[in-house]
Amino acid sequence: MRILITGGAGFLGSHLTDRFLSEGHEVTVLDNLITGRLENISQHYGNPRFQFIKHDVTTHIHIPYAIDAVLHFASPASPKDFPAIPIPILKVNSLGTHNALGLALTKQARFLLASTSEVYGDPLVHPQPESYWGNVNPIGIRGVYDESKRFAEAITMAYRRAHQLDTRIVRIFNTYGPRMRLDDGRVIPNFVGQALRAEPLTVYGDGSQTRSFCYVDDEIEGFQRLLMSDEPGPINIGNTTETTMLELAELVNRLTGNRAGILFKPLPIDDPKVRQPDISKARQSLDWEPTIELKEGLARTITWFRDQIEMG
Ligand code: UDP
Repeated sequence: MRILITGGAGFLGSHLTDRFLSEGHEVTVLDNLITGRLENISQHYGNPRFQFIKHDVTTHIHIPYAIDAVLHFASPASPKDFPAIPIPILKVNSLGTHNALGLALTKQARFLLASTSEVYGDPLVHPQPESYWGNVNPIGIRGVYDESKRFAEAITMAYRRAHQLDTRIVRIFNTYGPRMRLDDGRVIPNFVGQALRAEPLTVYGDGSQTRSFCYVDDEIEGFQRLLMSDEPGPINIGNTTETTMLELAELVNRLTGNRAGILFKPLPIDDPKVRQPDISKARQSLDWEPTIELKEGLARTITWFRDQIEMG
């Protein structure tokens, strides 16, 4: 297949690029490098089945050759980005999704949207099944991400219904692993970076809020199965093991041997209190479930971050 990945130089996009190239597909990466990095894809330079185009997908996308699948993974996704670059986030998920859908339609390609557990907001139903409509504050700091991803789902379904486009929607829950940026701001890179610098880990609030963390390799396997299936989604892909932020901090300190302890900081506004995917649908229609436990995934992630820091 000839696959185009928007955001292909980012954390998830670059792992998808690796996966599809290793299976013999052709991959075109579009990225404006706002949060993506060339280091994530430079290992593929010189591969005739790989192409990188520096492009902002909020402007028209022109590709002069055939494409079989468009995977729309461009979007900043860290809560740190929400107040810092709110308008690029709104634009990539609205205008960018529109352009990516337009490209898929022109090429008669399959389209896969990277959506998010953030469509559920601060959920009142727990765990979250795909049928739950969510509890989002549209005008809050997180609204720029949550609402634009909700719009992205709506326009994807409109293209499916109005243009019979072959679409897929995946709702991605917290994912972690190599290639997250140390300064990403999300909890795992923050904690691991702090631990490796022998600093206290910054737990926001009392640390009783929960998340369910999926190792990147499991997540990519889920995306791959979804793309190759007939399942339109939306479908949750994530790990069901739920952890409090305090437990996570203690685990990172234990795995790294960090003795600097924990530093409590204020809880950000609208921070969801709980999050756990109901993955019955993924189990049933994709025969998918995560296989890598948090402890194992964290150990691999710590090793990778340690190497990054040592290499400067
Ligand atoms: N968090 C924390 N310390 C940090 C960064 C984040 O305690 O240094 C908390 C944050 O308040 C949230 C959870 O960790 O409850 C996950 O935050 P993250 O930014 O990774 O992503 P989110 O799941 O909120 O989108």
